[in-house]
Amino acid sequence: MQPFTIEEIAQMVHGVWKNPRPGMAPISAVCTDSRSIIPGSLFLPWVGERFDGHRFIDAALEAGAAGCLCAQTPENLRPDKFYIEVADTRLALRDLAAAYRDRFEIPFIQITGSVGKTTTKDMVAAALGAKLQVLKTPANFNNDIGTPLTLLGLEAEHQAAVIETGMNHFGEIAYLGSMVRPDIAVISNIGDAHIEFLGSREGILKAKCEIFEHLKPHGLAILNGDDALLNTVSLPIRMVRCGQSEHCGVRITEIDDHGVDGITCTVETARCRYELVTAAPGEHMAYPMAIAVAVGEELGLSREEITRGVADYRPSGSRMRVIHLPQGRIILDDCYNASPQSVAAALEVLAKTTCERKVAVLGDMGELGDLTEQAHYNMGALAAMLGIDFLVAIGPKAVKIADGAAQSGGAVLHFSTKEEAVAELREQLEPETAMLIKASHAMHFEQLVEQLRGDY
Ligand code: ATP
Ligand code: MG
Repeated sequence: MQPFTIEEIAQMVHGVWKNPRPGMAPISAVCTDSRSIIPGSLFLPWVGERFDGHRFIDAALEAGAAGCLCAQTPENLRPDKFYIEVADTRLALRDLAAAYRDRFEIPFIQITGSVGKTTTKDMVAAALGAKLQVLKTPANFNNDIGTPLTLLGLEAEHQAAVIETGMNHFGEIAYLGSMVRPDIAVISNIGDAHIEFLGSREGILKAKCEIFEHLKPHGLAILNGDDALLNTVSLPIRMVRCGQSEHCGVRITEIDDHGVDGITCTVETARCRYELVTAAPGEHMAYPMAIAVAVGEELGLSREEITRGVADYRPSGSRMRVIHLPQGRIILDDCYNASPQSVAAALEVLAKTTCERKVAVLGDMGELGDLTEQAHYNMGALAAMLGIDFLVAIGPKAVKIADGAAQSGGAVLHFSTKEEAVAELREQLEPETAMLIKASHAMHFEQLVEQLRGDY
């Protein structure tokens, strides 16, 4: 972060410096966790559901923060530290990030969608990275704290910023958009994730379209052109649709699936034809690749740069990570998260592996509201229909996965907990077996992956 004087900060967050003193050093870092304070930084106490960061102001100052923002100013002010009083520290962080973002005249790309935001963010950043210095949202920091902290990471050398935006309630994307104010806004697709809070897919569409509220008037909207709901969207601004349908301006005309070795695809635009490669498995990867082409062309990258950048993409975290183990065993570690769309995509990848046996280990999917039972049942049925040799369903909701598989003639076992299932998984992971491991994040299936890996 480039430095700000204390006066500038107070002005930007509409706050009052309670103990003004001349000669204080400018601030070039913001910290929200009193346990990892950068010396000389500004401490911003975050008020969460279960904790109030104001309790840690003294600890943060003691650990080396130069001062703090606060909605509740402590009674005894330390004379060597500064205190800026604000109405709400969350809004103050937004205002600070928005004002800081304004210092940068570089293209901002904001990405939302039900499934594949992180994948698309990382793919777009990889493509742009062939020519530009890119700031991207680290990991999955896509919410009201991660977004402003990401923006505060902008430095003079950055030439583009790729920001992931998540949400599970109305208004969140508009809130995050007010900080990012993108030049390019992307919606990857509309699925069922978070339907519990948004009522219906139409509700989800409406919430996702908040991303256009703060899009620059001359900006570009990029949408998945194979998504029925997104195809109902029309906007009074430039739009590009990416997908396999004929109406797509960035069109995926061919996909070759190389199983666990990734895919190659052909993408055609008005400008040229791209032959793209990725090591990430799954035909759904063609969409982030096409979106990367759309963004790359908009920012003036050459065909060669876009092609090279896309090939450089590597999945982050446990997103369809292929783990090769002795004697032809493969674990498809996709346990980062699960929604109906991503489980279906992962089962397709498993079904297309060339291993002799295919085993799926599927756990509960969260936040599906009224769809919960049906969605789990459908996943089990799909696994059986795809010819998966054995299914292990784990968790209370996953009972329905087992029902769905059994009804469609699949071989399946259900366990209530991971701990009860481990022995069975060890048995199932025979030589020449591909095993997909996937569930919602809350199930912590990464522990299963680690246990199984530990055996070899
Ligand atoms: P979150 O809401 O947790 O931030 P996200 O939208 O960022 O999720 P990713 O982390 O990119 O999504 O991907 C989540 C899972 O979905 C991964 O297992 C990934 O392999 C899979 N996935 C990514 N893109 C697609 C897609 N277009 N269709 C189906 N599955 C996908
Ligand atoms: Mg994400």
